[in-house]
Amino acid sequence: MASGDNREAEINPSEVVASPFQSFLNDLHLKYQSLRDGKVATYIPELAKANPDLFGICAIALDGRVFEVGDCHQLFTIQSISKVFVYGMVLEDRGRDYVLSKVGVEPTGDAFNAIVLDESSKRPYNPMVNAGAIATTSLIKGAGPTERLNRMLDMFRRYIGHNDIFIDISVFMSERTTGHRNRAMAHLMHHFGMIDEKIDEAIDLYFQQCSLMVNCHDLAVMAATLANNGINPITGEQAVDSSYVKDILSVMYTCGMYNYAGEWAYKVGLPAKSGISGGIIVVVPNQIGIAVFSPLLDERGNSVRGVKVCEELSRHFGLHMFDLAMGRCKVLEMLSNEEKI
Ligand code: GLN
Repeated sequence: MASGDNREAEINPSEVVASPFQSFLNDLHLKYQSLRDGKVATYIPELAKANPDLFGICAIALDGRVFEVGDCHQLFTIQSISKVFVYGMVLEDRGRDYVLSKVGVEPTGDAFNAIVLDESSKRPYNPMVNAGAIATTSLIKGAGPTERLNRMLDMFRRYIGHNDIFIDISVFMSERTTGHRNRAMAHLMHHFGMIDEKIDEAIDLYFQQCSLMVNCHDLAVMAATLANNGINPITGEQAVDSSYVKDILSVMYTCGMYNYAGEWAYKVGLPAKSGISGGIIVVVPNQIGIAVFSPLLDERGNSVRGVKVCEELSRHFGLHMFDLAMGRCKVLEMLSNEEKI
């Protein structure tokens, strides 16, 4: 399948629920479709070709109901959103303490690709910036590169819930050919003992994870799996050990939106992760997984429409964690099929 094709997967349109929440998503889509702010990523030609009109919103409830509108079945590369899931895998592989000794959990305030390590510990700041993600990927267990790749793909399969996944080879090759900055970070981290000598392997695996093809629907299932304590709500499969979900959500909350993480926590108040192809995943713990896809990015690398949609959803339904904690959230109404909202 060529890059950018739709995956005509086992998606049954009848699964999409007609409800007040669905109408709200439709209205949001209509409202922001005309917003043209931002630019598509251009650091590799494959991403520069992205269609700026594409725009999808998908939400999946823990009982499997799907609410979606727009381009939810258009494939794109997962990019930095992969960092979340690889972090979970490595926590399982190596345990919390070991991972923490190699990768911190501090937000940086720097760009996602900054060549910067913590002054005293020499660790990369967190697993959501490139340096931390490369260090995380280097910790995936396996006898060699093929086994590590296959274990990683199996992990993504559990979250996505079907076997029809693949890596876009042209994106991978471009990332690999042009990724000198990431390579420089990897060498620096090796110098400080944060990653082992298999630097090129770690970098290749990192570029492969970034080049995994997903659509907005897949991302919503992945987010819903985290919302469901690590169990895929569609397949019932355990994608990650539940005892690590809190760790994953914590770094998403503090570091998931690059150097917009503070304002995001203030305005949206939910664990999230964005990627440079224009995807954003948002986890409403114990309630719903949300994904938005729109390739036009702001200067921090977050999808412009994606940020707007999430801000509005959070505000309207009281999804902010502290609204949830104070009982001000309207999730039950939101997911009801009756006209209550
Ligand atoms: N492949 C990209 C990189 O490593 C991912 C960055 C991103 O999505 N922000 O530069």
